[in-house]
This record gives sequence, structure tokens and C-alpha cells, in this order.
Amino acid sequence: DVRVRFAPSPTGQLHLGGLRTALYNYLFARSRNGRFILRVEDTDQSRLVPGSVEKINDILDHYHLNPDEGPKQGGSHGPYTQSERLPLYKEYSERLIEQGHAYRCFCTPERLELLRKEAARTNQVPKYDMRCRAINKEESLRRAQSKENFVVRFKIDTQEVNFQDHVFGSVSQTIDESDPILLKSDNFPTYHFANIVDDKLMSISHVIRGMEWLSSTGKHVLLYKAFGWKPPEFVHLSLLTRDGRRKLSKRDADAFVDYYHKEKGYLPLAVLNLLIRNGSGIQSFDPTRLYSLEEMVSSFDLSIIGKRNLQVDVNILENYGRLSFQKASIDELIPLISAQVKKDLPDCEDVCEDRVYLKKVIDFLREKEENFSSLSLITTPQFRFFFTRPQNSDEATGIAHEILSAIFELPPPWTLQNLRTIADRFDTNHKVIYKMLRISLSGHSTGPPVLELYDFFGRNECLKRIAMMIS
Ligand code: GLU
Repeated sequence: DVRVRFAPSPTGQLHLGGLRTALYNYLFARSRNGRFILRVEDTDQSRLVPGSVEKINDILDHYHLNPDEGPKQGGSHGPYTQSERLPLYKEYSERLIEQGHAYRCFCTPERLELLRKEAARTNQVPKYDMRCRAINKEESLRRAQSKENFVVRFKIDTQEVNFQDHVFGSVSQTIDESDPILLKSDNFPTYHFANIVDDKLMSISHVIRGMEWLSSTGKHVLLYKAFGWKPPEFVHLSLLTRDGRRKLSKRDADAFVDYYHKEKGYLPLAVLNLLIRNGSGIQSFDPTRLYSLEEMVSSFDLSIIGKRNLQVDVNILENYGRLSFQKASIDELIPLISAQVKKDLPDCEDVCEDRVYLKKVIDFLREKEENFSSLSLITTPQFRFFFTRPQNSDEATGIAHEILSAIFELPPPWTLQNLRTIADRFDTNHKVIYKMLRISLSGHSTGPPVLELYDFFGRNECLKRIAMMIS
């Protein structure tokens, strides 16, 4: 049975790579009738950022990557938040101690600090000197029972580990770590330990995650071996880069998921298509079309995920942005547009509730503005006229004022001919008239043709806008 998990740490903003990991887990689970699990890895309490879990849930919701099991959904393998599983880690660490694969280390922080200083002085990598390996079982137990502080360390002698990865093939790693900590003195596990205990207890069949974890996998394999467990299959996804080489840095705003939908207003499908864009895992991938989530699922194939780094390319994203805006359903777009307007133009609350009007705006944009690529554009100066009337401007003084007044008197409907007669009367070019009108109607000198705006708003609204301009 396929069971996969997305296992973010709630340490703040979700990285774009995190969304890709979630997507691939989701696609694989759905394509194999498996289960997609959300597990919150919050064991490094010093890095927790409040609200991160809600944020992760919101993001998965927004991108329609809904877990089958997780902290919110529940499920038969819970709890799904690691800090609620501490007794399990304790139990499994004791099992390893019992079997001689791990031991309690009673060294004080002061002693470890001395070791570090000594290593620094002689220019060596700091290593634990394994002193507590020598403590026998009885003494170890006695000291633990007398409440002496200890950590649990994994006994590893330097060795070579081999394992298979679906993307990177046969991997060979030399593990040279001096007995890494599994359980800290406060009973919290380290990432590596909690990760493998949970993958086992949650019956995870495939570990699909970013390649930054590839270098830890050898150590994980040793832990599985120590327990006598069969490791899951491994799938490490390539890096997300700006130009094929340079990694998206945590300092860049566009390294985080929020940037794409919250700040820029790209639709979920545009972002998801960007993330599968190097064709990884999609049979007969066609880079010119926009895939729906269902289409991604039906052509997903784990065995063709490639090693090539993914490029986060703005032009590609813009293109997917346009395609997704054209393809999205009105029902999906209305709440998104409404939310965007509410956020950016708080005075326009009323319009945001008017579904009929919002639909009209969307239809107009899809038909006339083929380059409309992201929702945040809707409140830029070029498009916000749908929701706010332009303010009276300096440009409507003098002769302009007279011209607009003349247009105000023009019998309906506006036509090119009618507007030309006015141009003639004032001895000017009709383009000047158009520009003036466009500013009156939209507040902007470029944008949709005046007669399209007239059709869109209707005569009454147009006259209102002109009146505001010349008042
Ligand atoms: N908690 C790790 C992270 O934040 C998960 C790594 C894994 O999937 O094993 O990326």
C-alpha cells in the first residue's frame, strides 16, 4: 500500500520547495490510490514559529492538496504532531539501548564544551569522544533511575552505507559521525530519530522529500538496520534554482509560497504547473499547456522523476498565470478576486459581495485582457477602476473641461462618429478625446478602448464618472 507523508517543520514561512514536496507526495498518493499524510515535525522547539501549522494547512487547502491523515484530519496512525509523540520516542530509544545500538550519555554540557574548544584549538572537526560507550548497562540504568541527566546516542562506527534512491539511483555514503544524539535530555528526539520512528510507525512506503535530506539518508538507513526494519523507498527531489544552478535563497522573498499567491496573486494551478515544469514525473510532458491537478495525477510516474534542477522562471510563471486565469472556473475566481480587492481596496467592500458584477469583471478581463496573469493586477492603477471611480484630476480643466461637458450632453449611444463630431467642434483629434475619456472612466491613460469601457459600464455609470471629473 502506498502511504506517503509531507513532513514540514513549523518554523515560519513555507518554502516553495516545500510546496513542491507536498505536490509530489500528493500526486504519487493519488496516482496509486494511496494515502497522503501530513506530519508536523516540531521537535526542534527553539525554531518553532507560532501560527506555522495553520499556515501550512491553509496553503495545502488553497492549492487543493488535501491530506487524508494529519493533525486536522486525524487518522489511524496519529498523533500526527511529533511533540505529542514523546513517549513513543522514549520507548523506541530504550529498545535501541537494550539491544546495544544506543547508549545513555551522561556527559555534562561543560565537558562537551571543553571537547569543542579542544577541537577548535587543534583545528579539528568537533567530535564526541564516545566516553559513555564504556558505561555498563547496570550502571547506566542506575544513573538514569537516580534522575541524572542524559542524552541517548546512536552507536555508529565509521562505515560505508549503500541504498537506492528513485531519482539518484545507487547511492553510497561514508558515515563518519561520532555517535549522534537520538534523544535529548528533555526527552525530545532529534529530527533523524523522530523521522525514522514515525515513518515506520505510520507505515510510510515512500519517502519523497527535497534533496537537502539525501545526505542524511545513510544515517537513517543505519537506524532502520539497528531496529531490524526494512527502510521505505527513497525519492529525493532536485533543487529549486533561479537559473538552473543558484539555489533559491531563504533571503529572497520569492523563495516562499506566500509570495506567489498572497503577494502576486497567481492562481494555484499556475504555481503548481511551474513546479512540475521540468517535466519531472509527468509522462509525455507538454510544456506549452496548463495541467489540471487531475491531469497531473493521471500522467504521474515516479520512475521518470529527473535529477535536473528546477528553474523558477518568471516568464514561465507569467505564461501559466495567463493560461490559468483563462481556464479557472468563475466559481473559483469570484472569491479570490473578492478577497484580493477587499485586501487592497478596503473601501470597496460592497462591490466585493456582488457576484454578478464580479463575474462581469472576470468575463471582461478574460475576453479583452489576454495578458491578465495574476489577481494582484486587479487593484493596480490600470485595473482598479472596476471598483473605484477615478478622482477628479488636473487634466480635466480648461478646454478638457469643455470637451467633457460636451460629451456629457451627447445623445446616446457613444459611437466613433459621435465622438468625432466633438473632436471636430473643438478642432482636435479624436485620439485626444479618447484619451480624455479613458482618464475620466478609468483614471488611466492606457488600458481598454473607450467604447469597450462604455459597453461595460453602461451610459449612466459613464456619465457619473464624467460628472465627477468635471465637478
Ligand atoms: N521536517 C523536515 C523538513 O522540514 C522533513 C524532512 C523529511 O521529509 O524527511 O523538511
